[in-house]
Parts: sequence; structure tokens; C-alpha cells
Amino acid sequence: MNDRPSPSLRETNVDKLPRGCFDVLILGGGINGAVSAASLAARGAKVALIDRGDFAAATSQESSNLAWGGIKYLESYEFGLVRKLCRARNLLIRSYPSTVREIRFYASHPRGLRHGRWKVLLGTWLYWAIGGFFTRRPRLLSPGDIAREEPIVEVGGLDGGVEYSDAYLHDNDARFVWGFVRSALDHGCVAANYVESLGSRREGGEWVTQARDLVGEREVRIRSRLLVNACGPYADRMNALDAVKTKHRHVLSKGIHLLVDRLTPSQRVLTFFADDGRLFFVIPMGPKTCIGTTDTPADRPEVKVTPEDRRFVLDNINKRLRLPRPLAEGDVVAERCGVRPLAVDVAGDGARGWVQLSRKHAIETDAEKRHITIFGGKLTDCLNVGEEICAEAQRLGIALPFAGRAWYGEPHPAVREQFFHQARLMDLDGMTSPHSSEALSTRLWRRYGAEALGMLEAIRRDPRMAEVIIETSEYLRCEIQEAARREMVVKLEDFLRRRSKIAEVVRREDIRRAAGLREACRILFGDQADAKRAEYFGEAQATASST
Ligand SMILES: Cc1cc2nc3c(=O)[nH]c(=O)nc-3n(C[C@H](O)[C@H](O)[C@H](O)COP(=O)(O)OP(=O)(O)OC[C@H]3O[C@@H](n4cnc5c(N)ncnc54)[C@H](O)[C@@H]3O)c2cc1C
Repeated sequence: MNDRPSPSLRETNVDKLPRGCFDVLILGGGINGAVSAASLAARGAKVALIDRGDFAAATSQESSNLAWGGIKYLESYEFGLVRKLCRARNLLIRSYPSTVREIRFYASHPRGLRHGRWKVLLGTWLYWAIGGFFTRRPRLLSPGDIAREEPIVEVGGLDGGVEYSDAYLHDNDARFVWGFVRSALDHGCVAANYVESLGSRREGGEWVTQARDLVGEREVRIRSRLLVNACGPYADRMNALDAVKTKHRHVLSKGIHLLVDRLTPSQRVLTFFADDGRLFFVIPMGPKTCIGTTDTPADRPEVKVTPEDRRFVLDNINKRLRLPRPLAEGDVVAERCGVRPLAVDVAGDGARGWVQLSRKHAIETDAEKRHITIFGGKLTDCLNVGEEICAEAQRLGIALPFAGRAWYGEPHPAVREQFFHQARLMDLDGMTSPHSSEALSTRLWRRYGAEALGMLEAIRRDPRMAEVIIETSEYLRCEIQEAARREMVVKLEDFLRRRSKIAEVVRREDIRRAAGLREACRILFGDQADAKRAEYFGEAQATASST
């Protein structure tokens, strides 16, 4: 018998989709769909959320993991946008102190750059001021400072640099998105991954969406008073399918990152100007370093890392760092690749240069059809998107009985206190995991919030719950059980790439060889364990289901 509760949560939700009429159906469970679901559900609307893949499996898992105020938009004098993004960043840091953390950006300044070093420093001070002096103060760096503090940076050719602050997502973007999906579920949202909208049409004053459950291979009809298109780079296709005309559309910008072994022990983002003049980052990511990114036009959302992309990133990094030997393709542990959906006016895009295209989001409402499309945006701006969607939904007549209710943020400080107190009593941090330098209690609290209290109880009952199952990763048995029970893991990739970041920091071959992987699969998938494992590694197995 298969008694895994997590898939059954999904199955139960798929069963609920055709029942009754939802206030709002949200198409797409990336960051924009997830915050829309979390905010509307917390405020009392009857909400459904579907994604044709896993939650956050498109653009929202391919970002640079930064919550940043957009310093580079100062160059295009978009002060309003910078102010808005800085405020959004500050709000994220305040609301998620364990997850969204201030980090120093250590920016090299090459001699002869179009803006002098003092002008760049002035820019960082302006940025700091626009951000309400919320972060630590910027500082000027001499070549000597850089050589002393970050000896890995090649200082020949530099006349110094500047250091300033922004923020980063500690666990990664996809896990951050999952937090909002989880919160939406906790407020009664009917959410299901691997359910694809095949198109929606108006029928008797309601939307009827024909959708396909890609796991159970069945079709469902979902009725809703309001439809929100949060399909990110696929939003234009979805609007075409649903006969919705908009004033905005997307242009797509492809960006890649490469993950390599940790290059420098410091917890800073090293920042350079790449050969194409764009900012280029070396970002700490757990035990690895994430390098990127690129910014090239794409004509479709389905993109892959090409040999040229890889060469560009590796060449740029090898020129700017003093490494024992140049980084080569063999050093790449994992890759990330996605498209930024950039919102432009249907009437007049193209007037601006490619890299100047704005990263603003636009929420476009068709009041007559009761339809909303979310265009563009950034992870950084997600709390604003949630608020704006609530305001628009109310304007379109959706009742939000708890309109003033806070829908984001970490649990109440008293819950936090209780968790850390219990963890101390159990000496949880004495049980350190070999692949993490971070205290176990800090890590569990950051990832699971109030749910981490249940994990403490599980560990008290059975100390084996605190054991790492997949060697070379830091994830404990109780975390995998939590994923199986509450995190709607359908495929092994959902767990390895998005609920955890194992696939980002451990080479595929090492994951395949890990003796504990089979046990992890058993916990996650019960009697389908072997098939799901084979599916992930692309191994031929007659029973490997392809959802
Ligand atoms: C290289 C790169 C770096 C970036 N760096 C940063 C950064 O550091 N900081 C930052 O704030 N932002 C960053 N961004 C921008 C940010 O990642 C995106 O703006 C954001 O993730 C877009 O989220 P979304 O929800 O709109 O789209 P997506 O995450 O793409 O979600 C759309 C969802 O719709 C689903 N969907 C599509 N069609 C259907 C259908 N028919 N039925 C059901 N579901 C469907 C898809 O499966 C997908 O999950 C970066 C982007 C890139 C590409």
C-alpha cells in the first residue's frame, strides 16, 4: 500500500479543482503566481493555483538569487524604479530576516571605465540614500584594499573599486517561491503542480478553464470569477489562447549562471564589468560559487546553455580572478539558464536599447472580462505584486473579508523563541552535519519556520531523523519526510532542484552514486521510488512514469 501523504495532498487538490466556482484561478506558479495565491488566500478569497510543471520550475528557478534595488538603473535615470525596488528589497529583508540577508557587493573598477571611480562611489551613495540608508554604508576601495581583502581578484588593470550592499536569498529562489505556495495552501488555496491550462473561455459571466492533470492523465474544468495569468514568459501565448488582448507584451532576455566549487571563502558578491559592459557577479551559494550572468535576446522561453554562453562566462571570470588554474568546463558542477520576461508596450518597444529595457512589472486588467495579466517583474518586487493583485481583485468585485491581514513574513518572534529554546534544550547544534558549516537550528528554522518545531519533535522521538541521508548533501531524514508529506514532490527533480538545492551543489554523478538516494526516493515516492529515480537520471526503465 502506498501511504505517502504528499502526493495525496496534490491528488486531493486536483479532485477539488472541478468543484464549485473559485473567486480566482491563477495560472502559473512562479514567484508572481505564488505571491498572488498567498496574498489572496490569506485575505479570504477562494483561490486555485495551477502550474503545468512544478512550482517555480521556469524563470523563478534561474535567477541570480538576489534581492536588489537595481543600482544599474541609476545609469538610465530610472530613479522611481530604483526607489521602488530598494523599498521592496528592504521590506523583504525586514520580513524574512533568516532568508533574505544583506550582502556586500565588492565591485572592481577597471582603469578607463566610462564612469570614474569617484563617480561610481557617488552612485553607490546615491543608491544608499535612495534605499533610505537601510543597509551598511558604501565605501571606496583602493587596489591595495582589494589585494588584501579579496586576494582572488586580479588587481592589475584596476584603479580600485567600491563596496556597497544589497541582499540575497539564502536558500535559493525556488525554495523562496515554495514558501508562498505553502502559505497559500495553509490558507485554503487549492494548488496543484503538473496541471496545465489548455485554454479558458467566458461562459455565463464566469471563466471556464479546460485543464489537464499531467500526472493522472485526466482533464478537469475549473470555474472562476476572475482569471489571473501569471505565466511569466508564457503569458503572451496564454493570452493568445484565451483571446485576451493587452497593451503590454513580453520580450525575452536569456541569462545563464554556472556553479563551480567555492572560489573564495568570503561571503561577498564579487562584481565586475564583463567584456560586454554589463555587470557580472561571483555569488556565494552554500558550498559553491555561482557565476553569471548573460543578457541576450531570445525568441522563445525554451532555452539551453550553449557552448558560447559557457565560454563567455568562463573567459570573463578567468580574466578577472587570480585562480591557481583557469576554470574550465569540467569545473562546472551545475548550470542555470532561463529567460527574463521583460514588459514592453505593444505599441512602441524597440525604441530603447536592449539592456536598457526596463525590468518594471506591469499589471494589466481587463475589467470587462475580469482578467488580469502580470507582465515582467523581479523576485525582489514580489510583495508589491501580491498587494497589487489583491487591490485589483477587490476593484473587480472579489470580496476579501480579511483585506488588512498581513500575508507574508516569518512566524511571530514568540514561535521563533520557542523553537530555538527547544533546540538548545536538545543540543541540536551538537548534531552538526558534515556538509554544512551552519548551525542546524538556524538552517531548519530558515527553511521550515514553524514547521521546524514538528521536526524537533520527530528528532526527539527518533534521533535517526537528524541523520543526513544523501551523503554529500546536508539534508536530514526528517527534512525528506517533510518534503514527502507537505511539499507536493511529484518528480525527484522537484526535490533535488527546487525544494532543496542538492542538484545545484552536488554533481549529478555524485548524487547518482550516493548510497542514501534510494532511501530518500523510498521516503518521497514509496513504491514508485525506482521509477522516479530512473526518470530523473534518464535511465531506461519500463515502469519509469513520465508525467
Ligand atoms: C538569469 C536571470 C537572473 C535573474 N536574476 C534576478 C535576481 O537576482 N533578482 C530578481 O529579483 N529577479 C531576477 N530575475 C528575474 C526573475 O527571476 C523573474 O522576473 C521572475 O522569476 C518571473 O517570475 P514569473 O512568476 O513571472 O514567471 P515564471 O517563474 O516563469 O513562472 C511562470 C509559470 O507559468 C507556468 N505556465 C506556463 N504555461 C502554463 C499553462 N499553460 N498552464 C499552467 N501553468 C503554466 C510555467 O510552468 C511557470 O512555472 C532573473 C531572471 C533571470 C532569467
